[in-house]
Amino acid sequence: MIPGGKHVGLERFEFAIDEEHLDDIYIRAVQDEYTKIDESWLQLHYKTSVVLVVFSLLIEIAMGIILVNSDMLTTTVYRFFIKFLIIPSGVNFICIAIETMIMRSKRFPQNHKIYAISLIFVGIGFVLFTVHSTFTATYYIFAIAIMLTAIYADYRITCITALASISSIIISELFLEWDIDKISIFENTHRMGDFLISLSVLIAFSIACMAVIRFERRKNSAGIQKEIERQLLQQSVHMDEMTGIYNRKAFRAEMKYVEDTASDRNYILAIVDIDKFKNINDTWGHHVGDRCLIEFANILKEFLLDMTPFRYGGDEFCLLFCGKSMEDAEAICGEIKARVNLLFFEDYPKLMLTASFGLASISGQVDTVRLFIHADRALYEAKKVRNAICVF
Ligand code: GH3
Ligand code: MG
Repeated sequence: MIPGGKHVGLERFEFAIDEEHLDDIYIRAVQDEYTKIDESWLQLHYKTSVVLVVFSLLIEIAMGIILVNSDMLTTTVYRFFIKFLIIPSGVNFICIAIETMIMRSKRFPQNHKIYAISLIFVGIGFVLFTVHSTFTATYYIFAIAIMLTAIYADYRITCITALASISSIIISELFLEWDIDKISIFENTHRMGDFLISLSVLIAFSIACMAVIRFERRKNSAGIQKEIERQLLQQSVHMDEMTGIYNRKAFRAEMKYVEDTASDRNYILAIVDIDKFKNINDTWGHHVGDRCLIEFANILKEFLLDMTPFRYGGDEFCLLFCGKSMEDAEAICGEIKARVNLLFFEDYPKLMLTASFGLASISGQVDTVRLFIHADRALYEAKKVRNAICVF
């Protein structure tokens, strides 16, 4: 953004910005964007856990009705509903309530919310797996829990979720006995096989997620790097290399922007030309002439909050004021002129610099060609006396 953020015609950066600084600005902007994406994914992550709990409750009710109406029920209906419906669903709804509180809370930073939702999702999976571990396929819930964290592209979150999931399967199979019909994995080779396969699949799945995160991060950084290069290139195209201010191409682009947006703000253009610059080149040499141009541009940079300076070519500069009155623009040009007159070159004490200013304004109907012609005419008048400011 240009200081003051007044124009948007050019893709702007602060003048003389170095590559490192641009990296910082761009990376910060990208991080802000990623935070927004993470935020909307977190909402979806939370909603998925709610859907999972509601969906599993409906399945349990359906299963309950089928079992009650068949001869397959090995316990009483009351015990069945308490054990397989009321307790697990109750615990999971408590998990959802905690999740909802965390999501609504303003005290938790986004990162903590991500950890909380990821781990509570594993907790819901743990309840469903423990209650239904006769159906080994329920371990898929943990795979979903791990997969949902991959979008955050944070190794730590995925790694912790994976560890919690794997531990849940181990604890549930080795230490908990919820269903009396359940056959221990040590009593049945088939069950042991299922247990080991589900563990291996989850470990492999976690490693695959880590690899996805690694490549996703590499892709992201390559994208950021390319964008920084593109912006640097764009910047160099619009910059005058020697003085470090915008060049004639940038001026043209800005004039086009002013005309295209047809804004109702008033614009003032000042064309500034250094007086008798040829003499400076002839007397002290071109390298001194170059130094004068650089020092002149440095003075213009001090007024970036008031206007945008462009090097139009040679010793001619354009200053574009937006939303300023003619009195203000004249006063700023007066300050610039005074600063230029005070310039002192230690090696060349006799070198004095003066400049002439021609100002014109437009508002309402935007005609930048006319604006330029008017400012040029004013400059022509100023050049009659030199070191002067003339308004069209
Ligand atoms: P006036 O007061 O009427 O403006 O007189 P002037 O001598 O400044 O005349 P003019 O503005 O036409 O001269 C511009 C000179 O600037 C001509 C050219 O030799 C010199 N010039 C243009 N670009 C550069 C540059 O990049 N470096 C140097 N050192 N001189 C340049
Ligand atoms: Mg000149």
